Amino acid sequence: MHEAGIAAEILEIAQAQSALLGGARVAEVTVRVGDMSGVAPEALEFAFEALREGEASGAVLVIKRIAVLARCETCGTDSRPGADLVLWCAVCGKPLKVLEGEELMVESIELEGDAE
Ligand SMILES: [Zn+2]
Repeated sequence: MHEAGIAAEILEIAQAQSALLGGARVAEVTVRVGDMSGVAPEALEFAFEALREGEASGAVLVIKRIAVLARCETCGTDSRPGADLVLWCAVCGKPLKVLEGEELMVESIELEGDAE
């Protein structure tokens, strides 16, 4: 249950944010999940809904999936390997460096009573 631990951490961050603002209810949490992060978005969503409580009991999880972007450091070609995750340069055959797609981070937390 890898995703359950991550969901618990996300909820902790949201609740800390809520506490900073006097216990406002958490409306929405947006996370960036890279396609190479090793996290299954469906499982994360399920765990989040199962674990939310207190100020975050009604929070909605918004998952932004980040496609993999890789660059060849030899010739500078950028590529989006997609689902097959071929991390070799199509131009010169050298290994690619992953620039995006490995991230797993909370992008924003929206509390009830925020600017509407
Ligand atoms: Zn190259």
